[in-house]
Amino acid sequence: MEKKLHRGTLCVQAGWTPKKGEPRVLPIYQSTTFKYETSEQMARLFDLEESGYFYTRLQNPTNDAVAAKIAALEGGVAGMLTSSGQAASFYSVFNICSAGDHVVSASTIYGGTYNLFGVTLPKLGIEVTFVDQDASEEEIARAFRPNTKALFGETISNPGVAVLDIEKFARIAHGHGVPLIVDNTFATPINCRPIEWGADIVTHSTTKYMDGHATSVGGAIVDSGNFDWEAHADKYPGLTRPDASYHGLTYTKNFGKLAYITKATAQLMRDLGSIQSPQNAFLLNLGLETLHLRMPRHCANAQKVAEYLKGNGQVAWVNYCGLKGDKYYDLGQKYLPNGSCGVLSFGLKGGRDVSIRFMDNLKLAAIVTHVADARTSVLHPASHTHRQLTDEQLIEAGVAPDLIRFSVGIEDAEDIIADIEQALSK
Ligand SMILES: *Cc1c(COP(=O)(O)O)cnc(C)c1O
Repeated sequence: MEKKLHRGTLCVQAGWTPKKGEPRVLPIYQSTTFKYETSEQMARLFDLEESGYFYTRLQNPTNDAVAAKIAALEGGVAGMLTSSGQAASFYSVFNICSAGDHVVSASTIYGGTYNLFGVTLPKLGIEVTFVDQDASEEEIARAFRPNTKALFGETISNPGVAVLDIEKFARIAHGHGVPLIVDNTFATPINCRPIEWGADIVTHSTTKYMDGHATSVGGAIVDSGNFDWEAHADKYPGLTRPDASYHGLTYTKNFGKLAYITKATAQLMRDLGSIQSPQNAFLLNLGLETLHLRMPRHCANAQKVAEYLKGNGQVAWVNYCGLKGDKYYDLGQKYLPNGSCGVLSFGLKGGRDVSIRFMDNLKLAAIVTHVADARTSVLHPASHTHRQLTDEQLIEAGVAPDLIRFSVGIEDAEDIIADIEQALSK
């Protein structure tokens, strides 16, 4: 039923549908554990013969209701919450890769993901090749190897706000028999649903717009159910061959389209942890209830700020796909016709030092690590989030040394622009 509803209705209503006498509002199941009447009942849960709750490290009803809402918004078959966006990115790949495997990823991705892929995954024996997402299909295809298991990209990259050609990436991935994983954090399903363009798995840092109020770190993974793991059974033995840790059960055989999320829950969460706390899931759900109202306001404000910056003589450059003439304007019109997000990036004439001084003079816009919440905020990635990257890696990640990441909130645009104006005049 939920699939037929519009996005705004899903934001408000999906996930939690109380029965007679149950709380109207999603309750916080603040319990590590769940009671059964017989030992046999619980044993069946441990064998995955029945679905049900037994320990919050694996599953919790509050979390599941919120994950179901996000899955409905993205148009997927199943979803799960994770303790952070980083955990979501890690699990999305680790669920189908092990030592000896290889992943191809766009290079213009979030700095944390870039480190995860470039430094930490290789320690586990998983190699990642970074590609220029704007390169031709032939060039990107050259990065693939026989042991490649996934292609990864961000709908709108953080912080460079590059727009991914999702259909192109899906064609390349499927041409090589691997799924496309898309991090949809900045666009949110309000502005883009990557699954409709061919993505197989969608990840989120729910910390950003979904929570929307900068209260709770969290992540989510949604599976479209569209990728045919059995058609590439040799590549994905974790899904298509018996799992020794569950008495030889095979995820694709036992769970069909739910195989990927069931494995991530039953195996990765069981062994590695990283569940979102039910408290945070509750707050995330409150945020989701207004996501469809907040996103258009973020976009309208950001458009005004981008146009103001573009017309200001002290500004060297502005990246925002809503600006005519922007490198990603056409891709933005295709994939994000109702707006992209509230984040834009720009540089000031005079370079890095001038950019830093400008930021220090802002009053309304706060210098914070966080991005994409109700309050306007600002960050200098080369000094902060991307500090560990070399100049060469910064360029590869689409982060110019003078790049200011400006996250436009949902205040009144006039006040945000006035703040920028006074800081520029100093
Ligand atoms: C913030 C962010 C992440 C990481 O999420 P956390 O919740 O901070 O762990 C991943 N991808 C993108 C695009 C992000 O902006």
